[in-house]
Amino acid sequence: MEKLTEQVKQLAKHQGAVLVGVAPVERFDPIPPVRDAAPRGHHPKDFLPEARSVISIAQPILNPVLDAPAVLADIEMEMIPDHVKYPYLEMFYNRVGHVVHDYMLEFIGQVVGQYLMSQGYQAMIFPTTGLHPRMEGFTDIELWEGPAQEGLEKFSPFRYTYGPFSHRHAATRAGLGEFGYNNVVLTPQFGPRQRFNSIITDAELVPDPLIAEPICLRDRCRLCLKACIMECITLRDDPDVIDYRSIGQDDRDRIFIDTPAKTDPTLCRRRREGRPHSPIRGDCIRVCPIPTLPKRMPERLSGIVWDWQAGEY
Ligand code: SF4
Ligand code: SF4
Repeated sequence: MEKLTEQVKQLAKHQGAVLVGVAPVERFDPIPPVRDAAPRGHHPKDFLPEARSVISIAQPILNPVLDAPAVLADIEMEMIPDHVKYPYLEMFYNRVGHVVHDYMLEFIGQVVGQYLMSQGYQAMIFPTTGLHPRMEGFTDIELWEGPAQEGLEKFSPFRYTYGPFSHRHAATRAGLGEFGYNNVVLTPQFGPRQRFNSIITDAELVPDPLIAEPICLRDRCRLCLKACIMECITLRDDPDVIDYRSIGQDDRDRIFIDTPAKTDPTLCRRRREGRPHSPIRGDCIRVCPIPTLPKRMPERLSGIVWDWQAGEY
């Protein structure tokens, strides 16, 4: 078991993963009030009934990749007309801060899966992000955004573009980090600046210990909530939010194996509608001071951080 675990981790790292952790499948069972149940159809055993381990892999978003597009939005770009600049910078960030990781992490999953198969085990791999299927007769908005229309509930029960398996929940269970108030997993190494994928296998691997100390600064910070112009992030103690277990004040001392927050992706997607100069996507992770405050920030975020450091909220 130790040898196979080491071989799998080394292979994943050799292929480009920077963080690799292992969760035994039992960590996906609910332990109220510490952790929730996986939604039906999204538990590791829904994909592989004999599952014993989940391998979590991550690649960092390079700091300038996250920060530079947001900073460039504040200055003139001589070669890019002003009315094109914001969509251009969004696409720039998405390409090197998202798409690269999406493909590479899927590639690493396939290579690790092939190796496990060669050793006589089964492995299940996943897309890195949510899926956006199209259906004849339905617009994108009807299928995936906003409240389900009367009579259409069975076609859009969640309304949001969830992936088949939550890589963030696998990452916390594999000991790589904990959730932050920004609804993103923070790791000691990169804070919120990485993307995850997962591999489910019937091989029994050596589990990694869970994170022992909180990483998110919680109420001492809240910069991510302040940074979101759309106010799309809601803490789970909001009594108006009823579709998940809420957290009480006492729970804030616990490691966040499940998320303390919920993000409305519809609001997030619409941040540019009627606001052509709204910030480049990602301010809720860009502003996070874990592991350190970013060296470069757009003016709006610098102001928010300055107020925080001055103790003004
Ligand atoms: S990406 Fe921007 S709009 Fe979306 S949740 Fe984060 S801060 Fe809010
Ligand atoms: S910005 Fe602050 S409150 Fe938000 S996730 Fe980071 S440390 Fe936690």
